Amino acid sequence: MPNDVIYLDNNSSTRIDPEVLEEMMPFLTTHYGNPSGSHRFGAQVKEAIDLAHERVAALLGCEPNEIVFTSGGTESDNTALHSALQMSPDRRHVVTTAVEHNAVLNYCEALVRRGCQATIVPVDEQGHLDLAELERAIRPETAVVSVMWANNETGVIYPLEEIAALCRSKGVFFHTDAVQAVGKMAIDLKDLPVHFLSLSGHKLHAAKGVGALYVNRKARFQPLLVGGPQEGGRRAGTDNVPSIVGLGKAAEMAQRTITEENTRVRALRDRFEKTLRAELDQVEINGDPAGRLPNTSNLAFLGVDAQAILLKLDQEGVCCSLGSSCTTGAVQPSHVLRAMHLTNERARSSLRFSFGRYNTEAELDQVLEIIPRVVRRLRQLSAAPVWP
Ligand SMILES: *Cc1c(COP(=O)(O)O)cnc(C)c1O
Repeated sequence: MPNDVIYLDNNSSTRIDPEVLEEMMPFLTTHYGNPSGSHRFGAQVKEAIDLAHERVAALLGCEPNEIVFTSGGTESDNTALHSALQMSPDRRHVVTTAVEHNAVLNYCEALVRRGCQATIVPVDEQGHLDLAELERAIRPETAVVSVMWANNETGVIYPLEEIAALCRSKGVFFHTDAVQAVGKMAIDLKDLPVHFLSLSGHKLHAAKGVGALYVNRKARFQPLLVGGPQEGGRRAGTDNVPSIVGLGKAAEMAQRTITEENTRVRALRDRFEKTLRAELDQVEINGDPAGRLPNTSNLAFLGVDAQAILLKLDQEGVCCSLGSSCTTGAVQPSHVLRAMHLTNERARSSLRFSFGRYNTEAELDQVLEIIPRVVRRLRQLSAAPVWP
């Protein structure tokens, strides 16, 4: 990565850790055999895959054979919902939330087109769920409830223990998209009645295109991809060996860095917000400030178009992302901010900054000089009289 870039977009993807890359390299070069092969290569590669299962399991507090490697967060999310519905043939209803990643929301939409029903539970202005409302959404014909552990845009954390207990008492499958939570907060699945949990490599300093699905050993399961016997028959297709090995290493490293996320990275994020709000008027935090991931800052710079800020920041080498998307040509406020009942104006002035392992105090100093200058300038421009 060029040194003149300040990367504050770690919730969209992260840099591969050099130690992760180093463990991957032999499997891209000399250790190229198929892990199912019955020659020396096979045994070597299989051993590496087994170690990756152990490392990811250690991070989550589960058994190695409860980990199924996939092509990423999206496939893990799709597989969990697919499996739950397949294993509940008389139940055609799913429950999820308005702030899920599109890997869950659009899958539910596809299910509805295939004749299922979906209830999308709303959130409040802080991004929180009303658990009573979630409970009311669960019906006798509900097959699965899917609630993310932490939101990718605002960082808001959901009460997983309570939701899991609720699903258990109702006798429905429970899936959590933990892509943003893994590596940023301690997770122990030993005492948590979750059936499925999704994670993704590239949000965790491993490669893109690899992820994992935790499948509770007691959960009845039906694969999405059918073919060979890989991953204990739960995900067919020759294993993506280098990426799986890298994800294992990244999981091992994450176990060691969770504390850092919650001290050093949290301190960077907090200083970032405190300074910006002291230097600039009308900067608001989106999402419950007290119930968020330690690395995420979703800020509204009221009265300024976030796209204009993003463009200026990019010119100055600062990478962050919009609280809105322009998928259809027109700028649409993000579904997450819309679900939180923020005004369109506030959503369109919102940017997400997500910090990580490689961000430094020196970078923060630079950013805290750049952003106030850019925002002040844009506010001046928009307040300036228009020439006839
Ligand atoms: C990034 C992300 C995904 C998708 O993961 P991929 O590996 O990119 O498919 C799913 N859920 C959340 C919350 C994410 O942040």
